Amino acid sequence: MSDQARPLAEVLAAAKRAIAFTGAGISTESGIPDFRGPQGIWTKIDPADFTLENYLYNDEHRRRIWRFRLENKGARYEPNAGHRALADLERLGVLDCVVTQNIDGLHIEAGNTTVLELHGHGRSVRCLGCGDEHPSGEILERVRAGDDDPHCTRCGGLLKSATISFGEPLPAHVVDESFARAEACDVCLVVGSSLVVYPAAGIPLAAVRAGARLAIVNEEPTPLDGEAELVIRGRAGSILTDAIAAVREMLGVQ
Ligand code: NAD
Repeated sequence: MSDQARPLAEVLAAAKRAIAFTGAGISTESGIPDFRGPQGIWTKIDPADFTLENYLYNDEHRRRIWRFRLENKGARYEPNAGHRALADLERLGVLDCVVTQNIDGLHIEAGNTTVLELHGHGRSVRCLGCGDEHPSGEILERVRAGDDDPHCTRCGGLLKSATISFGEPLPAHVVDESFARAEACDVCLVVGSSLVVYPAAGIPLAAVRAGARLAIVNEEPTPLDGEAELVIRGRAGSILTDAIAAVREMLGVQ
């Protein structure tokens, strides 16, 4: 076990109600690039491309997005050791929920049952007019068949993946529930987030303000490091695996 994992295990084993707050960094070990890390997506493409305005008013941009989604449909990403460790922490009765900025659905696949997806998810496609929702695969089949900018068959409105673009409001009920759970937790474990995107980054801050202990696992420094009791600089998969194994030992669970 790494020296870093033991203090984290001690904090987690003492928790009555912990929450995990995760960002793109927990999924890089599954092969999905983050945004702001040294190999991040922002080093290759322009973030301005992902605005709601661009999606609404630029037909060519929408076609590009649908083409990109179709081409990447076959890409299969699996939960990694970090996701699995957080699912284990829930099974141990330590973790109340995962609040995530990720849209990849990997926490749910790993087995966490309460996952608050602040930035939506890629499992479905929603009509921006009437709100009608469809599984993503169904709409991608239409794109494959030649409908390169699919619209709603019910109201003619624009269809968009149920992920949140820049300039688009976050789902209010998910944000409210995330803040409520953060304010009620006694430990907030942040994993793989640069903590610069608001309001999401306000969630761990709200936990600290309400008296929770804050632990941060990230490869790079974050603006909230000064608020944390524990900052562990390194890769999430091995650190969380070691820490959760030690929590098991401390709780006397096989
Ligand atoms: P970010 O890209 O801003 O920051 C990721 C952080 O994780 C970086 O500080 C990086 O150093 C760290 N990191 C990378 N790999 C790591 C590892 N193996 N272990 C520990 N730390 C690691 O990501 P963010 O804070 O989530 O915010 C950006 C936005 O990115 C979010 O809004 C999210 O919706 C979106 N996003 C999601 C995905 C996904 O769903 N997997 C992928 C890319 C971006």
